Amino acid sequence: MRQLYRLWPTVCVALAPGLASASVSTSCAASAMDVVVVGGGLAGLCATIEAAKRGAKVTIIDKEANLGGNSAKASSGMNGANTQAQRDQGITDSVEKFIEDTLSSGDGLAVVELVHTLAEQSRETHEWLKSLGLHLSDVVQLGGHSTARTHRFPPTPEGKPQPVGWTLVSGLRKILETELKDQVTIRTKSSFKELLIEDGRVMGLNFEHENGTEQLRGTVVLTAGGYANDHADSSLLDLHTPALAKLPTTNGPFATGDVIKALVKQEAGVKTTLMDKVQIHPTGFIEVKQPNFHTKFLAPEALRGSGGILLCHGKRFANELGRRDYLTEEMFKHCKPLFDKEENPLSAAMLLTEEAVEKYGSGAMGFYKFKGLVQDVGTVEAAAEAMGTSAEVLKKTLEDYNEAAERGQDKFGKKVFPVRFPSTAHLYVAFVTPTLHYCMGGLAINVRTEVLHSDGQPIPNLYGAGEVTGGVHGNNRLGGNSLLECAVFGRMAGAQAAEKAKDGRCDTERGSAGGA
Ligand SMILES: Cc1cc2nc3c(=O)[nH]c(=O)nc-3n(C[C@H](O)[C@H](O)[C@H](O)COP(=O)(O)OP(=O)(O)OC[C@H]3O[C@@H](n4cnc5c(N)ncnc54)[C@H](O)[C@@H]3O)c2cc1C
Repeated sequence: MRQLYRLWPTVCVALAPGLASASVSTSCAASAMDVVVVGGGLAGLCATIEAAKRGAKVTIIDKEANLGGNSAKASSGMNGANTQAQRDQGITDSVEKFIEDTLSSGDGLAVVELVHTLAEQSRETHEWLKSLGLHLSDVVQLGGHSTARTHRFPPTPEGKPQPVGWTLVSGLRKILETELKDQVTIRTKSSFKELLIEDGRVMGLNFEHENGTEQLRGTVVLTAGGYANDHADSSLLDLHTPALAKLPTTNGPFATGDVIKALVKQEAGVKTTLMDKVQIHPTGFIEVKQPNFHTKFLAPEALRGSGGILLCHGKRFANELGRRDYLTEEMFKHCKPLFDKEENPLSAAMLLTEEAVEKYGSGAMGFYKFKGLVQDVGTVEAAAEAMGTSAEVLKKTLEDYNEAAERGQDKFGKKVFPVRFPSTAHLYVAFVTPTLHYCMGGLAINVRTEVLHSDGQPIPNLYGAGEVTGGVHGNNRLGGNSLLECAVFGRMAGAQAAEKAKDGRCDTERGSAGGA
């Protein structure tokens, strides 16, 4: 069937020998092709741009009033191997090392072909973003990576921070609203309801908005994000990972997995994978004034990548640049609820020097200070007091840390020490807790982003990318790999959907030619 579709553009040309090539391409390939994208985070925006640039007419729907999703909240960065930014900073990396780190983090559960594609296309994806005016030129090293490969936007020349997720999303959305405005329709407050399936092929979807239900026909790209904030009665968290379901979350209220639930309810035959693999991020900020508030601001991994260390009872307990699942486990083993109050969440203190703050970006830190998430305490004594621990214990911890940094290795296996903690250092303190953060599971896709049927075959005309899909990360996602996944596979899904829409157009032409 697939091959037949691919043949049709040629067949159309053969059926219309008298047409000039320009008009042949209009009827067979270019103009009225429709693609419908569900979800306006990074994956959806990349899919939309790629499809529109290939000549498709695209409608992107999002249930929220604004596009952006969790992508807009991303704050650490986006990975890439062998990029220009790495070379400019003298960082040695390779696609092979990136693949190795990602597969190792996935504990054998990641789909190898997807990981290869992710890493192999990372450099080109950064080039693509750069060509759209989005140059991620700063690079830091996050936990579980063997080198620095997480790319960020530097502050503006005026010192204004450029948060990675927000900057990507707003930059791409602007392209939809300007350069691509004649080809792209944005429908917000519009919620996916069900697929239109005819003869086993997806022909479009129904969605709901303020004034009722509407139908859109076309190839469909699903980019509706994850379910790490799904606390409804039919919660996917309760169903697949009940032990973690009550933890706080970093995710927005939209991250409820309703597209997956709708497809299951519709009995669309989709295959899901790794649904019980939900990532707990070890460092959600605790707001001291309301420690039990369910939604947490993320204390981004880049804070640890810039030199922040983690302490319980004034002592370090782990390699701060270890994997997220390892750090979370160590926190559960070594830490207690904030201020030893049973009703409070489990808590570790994060300690930063002025130098680490500068490395991370003092502008962005201003926001955390303003929100009361980070305290500017100054001296070691003041830091100890804020943490409720003894100054002597803290001093000893910092001396040991500095000695390990000199040696280049500590007892936890840490080998990268972005900063030292001299006794005169100006210090900052924050409290952090393990927090639901990311869904490694979701819709199963193949390496062409085709959504798979439970029999393992692609469902015709249905594509997926980003957090709504599963398999790229296996058991544990490396920091910075999600934004990359959204961009790499989002683009691919948009391109595939546009090409398939072209074929569908020819399918229609075939009908009229046959009737004549
Ligand atoms: C606080 C935070 C910080 C992060 N930092 C990083 C980072 O630095 N680096 C990194 O790689 N990853 C990071 N992540 C993870 C990453 O941001 C997300 O996994 C990724 O952006 C998901 O993108 P997406 O496009 O798949 O989904 P999203 O960006 O979440 O977008 C999904 C969209 O789909 C819409 N939607 C949902 N259901 C429906 C429906 N039924 N109908 C219509 N629309 C629907 C939602 O409203 C949403 O706008 C972070 C996540 C969080 C929460």
